Amino acid sequence: MKKTVQLYEGKAKKVYATEDENLCIVSYKDDATAFNGLKKGTIEGKGAVNNVVSNHLMRMLEQNGIPTHLVEELNDRETLVKKVSIVPLEVIIRNIAAGSLSKRLGLPEGEKLKKTVLEYCYKDDDLGDPLVNEYHIAALGIADDEELATIAAYSFKINDLLSAYLKDAGIELIDYKIEFGRTADGTIILADEISPDTCRFWDSKTGKKLDKDRFRRDLGGVEDAYDEIRKRLLGK
Ligand code: ADP
Ligand code: UDP
Repeated sequence: MKKTVQLYEGKAKKVYATEDENLCIVSYKDDATAFNGLKKGTIEGKGAVNNVVSNHLMRMLEQNGIPTHLVEELNDRETLVKKVSIVPLEVIIRNIAAGSLSKRLGLPEGEKLKKTVLEYCYKDDDLGDPLVNEYHIAALGIADDEELATIAAYSFKINDLLSAYLKDAGIELIDYKIEFGRTADGTIILADEISPDTCRFWDSKTGKKLDKDRFRRDLGGVEDAYDEIRKRLLGK
C-alpha cells in the first residue's frame, strides 16, 4: 500500500492517505514536545522505537481481544493502520500517582493508588486538553453513553493486559494515555500509539524512569531509555 496525500502533521507523527479510503499510513517522527508544545526538541531514534514498540503492544492486545487500528508494519518508522475518526478524548489510566495527578491532589509521586483511576481530557490544544467527566462528554456530544462504556471497559482491560505483560519485562506501568476512534461502520477501536511518549514506564527494581519524563524533566539519557524499552520488549 502506497502513501498518497499527507492528511495531517501532528507533533509526533504524520498521517497519510492511501489508495484504500479505509486505511492510512502513520509515520513516526523524532520530534519531541512537552507542556502543550512549549518545550521542543529531538530524540534521536524515537520515531523508530515508538513505531515498533506500539505495534508490538497493540499486537499483544489484539491477540487478547482488544480491537486495534494496527494492520501492518511497513518499515521501521511507518505503519499501515485502519483509518478512524478519532474520538477527541485522551483516556488516561493511572495505577501509581505521578505527573499532573500528583500536583493536582498533592500525592507523592510513586504512591500506589488505592483504586485504578480513569480520567478523560478533551483533545483540544487551544484549550490545553482540559479534564472532563462523563457529563461534559455527553453535553458536548463527544461520544454517546454506549461508546463511552465501551471505551472505559477496553481501557481497564488494556490496563490489566499491559501491566502484566510489562511486569514480565521488568517494567512497572505507572500511567498512560490512549485514544480510540470510530471505523467507517462506527465500531470503536484502539488507535494512535502506546509508547514511551504516552506511558510512564519505571524499571521495576530501581524505579528508573524509562519514558518521556526524561525529556520533560531534563534527566538526561533520553535516547538510552527509549532504546532500553525497545530491547526489553522486542529483544533487539
Ligand atoms: P498530535 O495531534 O497530538 O500532535 P500526533 O503527532 O501523534 O499527535 O498526530 C497523530 C494524529 O493522528 C493524532 O491526532 C491522532 O489522534 C491521529 N490518529 C492516530 N491514529 C489514527 C488512525 N488510525 N486514523 C486516523 N487518525 C489517527
Ligand atoms: N500523556 C500523553 N499525552 C498528553 C498528556 C499525557 O501521552 O498530552 C500521558 C503521559 O505520558 C502520562 C499520562 O498520560 O503517561 C498522564 O500524564 P499527566 O496527566 O500526568 O500529564 P503530564 O505530567 O505529562 O503533564
